Amino acid sequence: MSATPFETELRERLRAIEHEGLLRGLRRVDSPQGPRIRVDGRNLINFSSNDYLGLAGDPALREAAARAAMDFGAGAGASRLICGSLAPHHQLEEALAGFKHTGAALTFSSGHAAAMGTLPALVGPGDVVILDKLAHACLVDAARLSRAKLRVFAHNDLDDLERILQWAAERPTEKRRPVRVLIVTESVFSMDGDRAPLKTLATLKERFGAWLLVDEAHATGVFGEHRRGLAEATDVADQIEIQMGTLGKALGASGGYICGSRTLIDYLINRARSFIFSTAPVPAAAAAARVAVEIISSERGKELCDTLWSRARQLAAILPHHATDSLSPILPWIIGGEAEAVRTADALREMGFFVPAIRYPTVGRGVARLRFTASAAHSNSDLTALAAAIRQLSCHPQ
Ligand SMILES: *Cc1c(COP(=O)(O)O)cnc(C)c1O
Repeated sequence: MSATPFETELRERLRAIEHEGLLRGLRRVDSPQGPRIRVDGRNLINFSSNDYLGLAGDPALREAAARAAMDFGAGAGASRLICGSLAPHHQLEEALAGFKHTGAALTFSSGHAAAMGTLPALVGPGDVVILDKLAHACLVDAARLSRAKLRVFAHNDLDDLERILQWAAERPTEKRRPVRVLIVTESVFSMDGDRAPLKTLATLKERFGAWLLVDEAHATGVFGEHRRGLAEATDVADQIEIQMGTLGKALGASGGYICGSRTLIDYLINRARSFIFSTAPVPAAAAAARVAVEIISSERGKELCDTLWSRARQLAAILPHHATDSLSPILPWIIGGEAEAVRTADALREMGFFVPAIRYPTVGRGVARLRFTASAAHSNSDLTALAAAIRQLSCHPQ
């Protein structure tokens, strides 16, 4: 049978993507998430996961998930506002608010959904959202969905942010109500691993009376004395109106959250469309995430975090161009060309390491990279083996 016009058009589009060296496909993993994964029949050492503390495979999380599935079912059955607001969701939200030291917390089916629900609930047409240039795609999409005026400041450039805040302050006010200005940034950037200057940023936003949303997707469980995130480590948590994050990275489970005042959470329950019009997360995920919060808050969490940081330092010593002064567990090796990055990833895979190439549109064109991540679950010998492989690659570039 000949292809329909629909098929023909999509095939052409795919060919164009491939021509640019940007075609993506899925790789099936036949093992649980961990420092070693089974891909295409081979066991590979995994340096690509966001499971920073190794909790995704932790027996306590697995057990909690299994027990919640037995006690509360496989699915939640309805949205939270209908009859799906199950005990595990409430227990998780209490635990998250306690962990983050905020008045309340609200969970979503993903971090992506948390962003898509929260930004449009808070700002709308006539308002202004100011995003860091490298903010995650879900924050960009959520800002667009809000229909507020979108402005982007150069990555971590607070002079540029100040210029835009000044511009926003001089805008004529709407007849209905004052213009709201919302600044949105990540605390640790997902593809570069660098950190936002939260302290100065918080001072600046107070000076202009703007609101601040900080996405701690890659910092929760990793930074701060109690591992609450970079906001804790830089002592600015009280100045951030909206703390966002995911339960799917260091927390090893699935889902997203917003932490903030009780008023903020009550408002989101009424206005965040991705929360209102979506079936509640499965009870197993909520129960696993709650155990993760408990572990991260405990002495064991501190030990896991210490191990993670020593692995990150080892990784920094192995990879080119990493100063150890502003380290995070995300260590990109910027290759540049898309095709070359893919070849380097293929070569590493041949040597037994799983580190996929990250390309446009996840990062800009011409700054393709291998994104290495450290995990508390890596062993010393995983790092030694990687060091040998990288030395070999540097001698024989792909
Ligand atoms: C992964 C990620 C998200 C989305 O979280 P999910 O729970 O995976 O949907 C949001 N923001 C940042 C910065 C992320 O890295």
